[in-house]
Amino acid sequence: MLDDATLPEPALAAGTERPLAPGLRRERVLSINHYTDKLFSFRTTRAPSMRFQSGQFVMIGLETDGRPLLRAYSITSAVYDDHLEFFSIKVPGGPLTSRLQNITVGDSIVVNGKPTGTLVMSNLKPGKRLWLFATGTGFAPFASILRDPETYDTFETIIAVEGCRDVAELQFATNVVTDVRQHEYLGEAATGKLLYYATVTREPYHHQGRIPDLIASNAMTTDLGIAPFGAPDDRVMMCGNPHMLSELKALFQTRGLNEGSSGEPGEFVIEKAFVEK
Ligand SMILES: Cc1cc2nc3c(=O)[nH]c(=O)nc-3n(C[C@H](O)[C@H](O)[C@H](O)COP(=O)(O)OP(=O)(O)OC[C@H]3O[C@@H](n4cnc5c(N)ncnc54)[C@H](O)[C@@H]3O)c2cc1C
Repeated sequence: MLDDATLPEPALAAGTERPLAPGLRRERVLSINHYTDKLFSFRTTRAPSMRFQSGQFVMIGLETDGRPLLRAYSITSAVYDDHLEFFSIKVPGGPLTSRLQNITVGDSIVVNGKPTGTLVMSNLKPGKRLWLFATGTGFAPFASILRDPETYDTFETIIAVEGCRDVAELQFATNVVTDVRQHEYLGEAATGKLLYYATVTREPYHHQGRIPDLIASNAMTTDLGIAPFGAPDDRVMMCGNPHMLSELKALFQTRGLNEGSSGEPGEFVIEKAFVEK
C-alpha cells in the first residue's frame, strides 16, 4: 500500500496551474544572463503586492514533482523596479541550482512574498562611510542597496567591494556599478560618493588578494586613496563566504565595532551568502 508521501500527484486539466501553498506565487522569467559556468542572473515579473527593503532576501525556487523546492535568494533589483532580479550560483548537483540554471524566458519560478534579512539600513547606526564587503554571489543584496537613492542620501561615501576567484566572476558586480554610475538619476547622486573595489584571488588583476588581508594591511584604502578603515563613523555590511565573514567579524570586534540587529543598530551587519552543508 502507498503512503501519502508516495502517492502520485493527481493529474490537472490541460492549461490549469496547480494551486500553490499560501504566501507563494509564480513569477515569469523575463531574461537570463550567464556570466560564467558558475554564475548567472535572471529577471522575473514582480507582483505589485511584493514589497521589500533594499538588502533583503526571499525564498524562491522551482516546482519539482509538483512541489516547490525553495532556497534563500537576495533580491538584486531596486525597490522601485517593476521586475525582480536575482544573481545565482550554479552548484554542481545542487538540488535547486542544477535545475534553475536551465530556466528559459517564459518559465515560472516560485516566490515567497515575505522578504526578510539583516542587511538593511535601519540595522546600522548613522555614519559617514558605508562599506559593502562581498564575495561571489554575496554581492547580490548590495546590488539593490546600490540601486537605492536613499543609500546616497544616508552616507557620504559608499565603498562597494567584491572579491572573486576569477576576473570573469566580477562581471555582475561591475555591471551593477557601471549601470548606477550611468543611471539618469542615480548617476548624479552617486557621483563622487560611490567607490568600487574589485579583487581576485586566482588570476592576475590590478587588485589581488583576499578582502580581510587587504583591509588589515590598509592596501585597499591606499589603492582607493581614502583614510584607512576603522574611522568611528565607518559602517559595514558584509555578505559572502563563511571564512571571510568570520575573519572580518573578528577584525571588527578587535576594533570595538558592534554587530547590529533590528532591535539594536550597530556598526556592522552580516548575512551569510550561503550555508555550508
Ligand atoms: C540568507 C541567504 C541568502 C542567499 N542568497 C543567495 C543569492 O542571492 N544567490 C545565490 O546564488 N545563493 C544564495 N543563497 C544560497 C542559496 O540559498 C542556495 O544554497 C543556492 O542557490 C544553492 O542551492 P542548491 O539547492 O543548488 O544547493 P544547496 O544544497 O543549497 O547548496 C549546496 C552547497 O553549495 C554551496 N553553495 C550554495 N550556495 C552558494 C553560493 N551562493 N555561493 C557559493 N557556494 C554556494 C554550499 O557549500 C552549499 O553547502 C543564499 C543563502 C542564504 C542563507
